[in-house]
This record gives sequence, structure tokens and C-alpha cells, in this order.
Amino acid sequence: MSYQRFKTKQLKVGSVLVGGDAPISVQSMLFTKTRDIKGCLEQLNRLYFAGADIVRLACLDMADARALKEIKAQSPLPLIVDIHFNHKLAVFCAQFIDAVRINPGNIGGKDNVKEVVRACKARQIPIRIGVNSGSIEKEFEQKHGHTVEAMLQSALYNIKLLEDFDFTDIKISMKCSDTQKTIEAYERLRPLCDYPFHLGVTEAGTKFHSTIKSSIALGNLLLKGIGDTMRVSMTGELEEEIRVAKAILQDSGVQKSGVNIISCPTCGRIQSDLVKAIKIVEERVAHIKKPLNISVMGCVVNALGEAKGADVAIAFGKGQGLVIRHGEVVAKLKEEDLVERFLEEVEDEAKSKEA
Ligand code: SF4
Repeated sequence: MSYQRFKTKQLKVGSVLVGGDAPISVQSMLFTKTRDIKGCLEQLNRLYFAGADIVRLACLDMADARALKEIKAQSPLPLIVDIHFNHKLAVFCAQFIDAVRINPGNIGGKDNVKEVVRACKARQIPIRIGVNSGSIEKEFEQKHGHTVEAMLQSALYNIKLLEDFDFTDIKISMKCSDTQKTIEAYERLRPLCDYPFHLGVTEAGTKFHSTIKSSIALGNLLLKGIGDTMRVSMTGELEEEIRVAKAILQDSGVQKSGVNIISCPTCGRIQSDLVKAIKIVEERVAHIKKPLNISVMGCVVNALGEAKGADVAIAFGKGQGLVIRHGEVVAKLKEEDLVERFLEEVEDEAKSKEA
């Protein structure tokens, strides 16, 4: 299977390029009230250290909008404001924010859309059209029901509203809580425009279900070359959203960054504590940004074969084991010393790749 990404128009969200040949960016959304400036900055910093690229915040009223201005001034990441119904809030936030997410169809008519467009054009910031199966305009819902066709018609209608005002810095999302419908919606819209797509499954649920739903839907689309930016939505999680999104990019082979860990499931042959070792390894390599392949295997049955394809590997044995780098054994140590030496080699390998 050969991976080829659909060529989209490139936009800028703050310092982050989206679309074209830019890396696929990972987004999240704060779940604290936007008027809580301290709480928002605390969550933003957590997302920054987790490796998020862009963050979205809801704006319900002027108190939120004014707080957002202060948050933006201190934010370590580009910010998108999420606004429904009230075009005045969008116009106000467009003065300082990096992008605006609206549904042009629910912002109160063409004159209001025109005002938002003018404000975004003035600062050359993009607008994300956020089509969501749960909030489709009545006319499309009445005609097509809760279907992908309704989402598609809504997207095309909203795109045209912006294009009619000569605005094309557009990003589109087609979110649905059903994985198959999500895939179909993005797939059907993809050949009809060249705007970048923000991928996501909406209301994907808890960490467990969201991980599965997002892996299925987003993984499927990414492998077909669809998607320029993405979010894994989880109830009440921040860092985990980023971890899973990055893992989907990594494990689909679409975008390599960070450490890819190969580890065996263990079986009756094991004679060491591999489960404890893999937990330590996973935590200690999380900060590495360079793409590295490492393998941590329970015995020599498959360890030596996996080690050949890994930058650094461990092959556990009975009370001892081998540290292997690019297929060469670099140390034979007692089990208790193995993980630390392995991690030294991993750090050294990451540094040499950076150099
Ligand atoms: S590598 Fe060894 S311990 Fe791990 S699953 Fe395979 S046979 Fe079992």
C-alpha cells in the first residue's frame, strides 16, 4: 500500500502551518471555562508539554472573549476560538486570535458572515467550518435527515457562504460520533475542494472508546491521504488526547516522530519482569521527538530478529539480557542493570540522530 497525501491549500494558524506539505498537526480543546484565565493557562501548559500543536477554546460571551485576549497574550500555543450564533464575539476575537471556528450557517445571515470574514481577512487568519452531525442546519436535516448527505450539503453551503465573500482561508471538519459516517463524510467531501481538513470523531467518549473509534476513523482516513490536522476527543482527558493522536500518526506510518516501541506480549517462556521494564521505558522515552525504533523483547526467540530492525533493543533472558544497537550486541548485563543501560543507548541514539 503506498501512502499519498491529498494536496491541500496551505494555511497558517499562528506559527503552525496547516495543509499542503506541512506536518499533520495535533489539536486539543480546553475543558475549563474560558473566563477562568488561570485554569486555561494551566491546561494550555499541560498541552504544550504533551506536544500539542494547536488548541481550541469555547467562547460563550464577552466575559469569555475578554479573558481569551489575556490567555492569548500568555499562551505557549496557537489558539482557535470556537463560536456559535454570535457573530459579534467572532469579530471581537478575530482581532487577537489565530483562527476562528464557526458554522457560517448559524451565525445569523449573510451580513453577519460578511462582518466575520472582513475581520478575519484584516488579520489574515483562517476560518474553520465545523460541520457536526448533531448541529446541521434545519433545512438540510429536514431534507436529508441525520445522514452524511446532510453533512455534505451543509459543508458545501457553508464553503460557498465564505467563498461568495472572496474568502478562501478555510479549514473544514466533518465530525460525527459514528465512525463509518465520519469516514464517509470526509471521503465524499475530499474530491470537491482543496481546503485542508481537520479530522475528528465527535463525542467519541471515554479514553477507552475514543482511542478505538479515533484509531479506526482517523487511521482509515489518514492512510487514504486525507487529513491535515486532527483531534482525538476524549471525555475529561488532555495529555492522553495528544498521546493517542501522535500514536495514530506514528503507528499508521503516516508521520514518524518520537519513539516507536516494539514489545512482545510475553508468554510462558519469559524469565524476567518485562512488564515492569516496558513501563519504565515508555515513561523515560516519552520526551524524545526524533523518530526511533526500539524493541523490548522477553526472550531470544524473536528478540534478535526484532533487534535487526531496531535502533536499540533489549533481549531479556534468564536473570540477564543483551542490549543491542543496530544489530550489534553492545552489552550483556544482569537483569537489574539492563534497562538503565538500554536507556543510555536510546538517549545517545536520539542525540546522534539530532546531530
Ligand atoms: S519474545 Fe519470547 S517471551 Fe516474548 S512472547 Fe515471544 S516467545 Fe514469549
